[in-house]
Amino acid sequence: MNDIEQLRNWRNNIHDTYQGAYRKQWDRAITKKSMRAAVNAKCQECMNWQYAEVKQCNLIHCPLWQYRPNQEKESTREAEIREIAKTITGDAPEK
Ligand code: SF4
Repeated sequence: MNDIEQLRNWRNNIHDTYQGAYRKQWDRAITKKSMRAAVNAKCQECMNWQYAEVKQCNLIHCPLWQYRPNQEKESTREAEIREIAKTITGDAPEK
């Protein structure tokens, strides 16, 4: 499979819901128009284009977790996880 086929196949398999919103987001990501679109597209793909699943993702080790779409405003949990991460990476003194 060449590059064109690979990209076309992938694009054609993106769920065509919300008036093609997921596909449009992938388009913006793959053409390097938006890093936010890239993060959103990756999370949506990861959760099989299930809006609610992305919102509820609990894989806190994922490097995209703090940036995943569909979050409420900054939650206490995200702040807590970030503080723990700072501690284990040496960004903050251990308590
Ligand atoms: S943050 Fe969650 S939904 Fe997004 S890529 Fe990581 S594991 Fe998947």
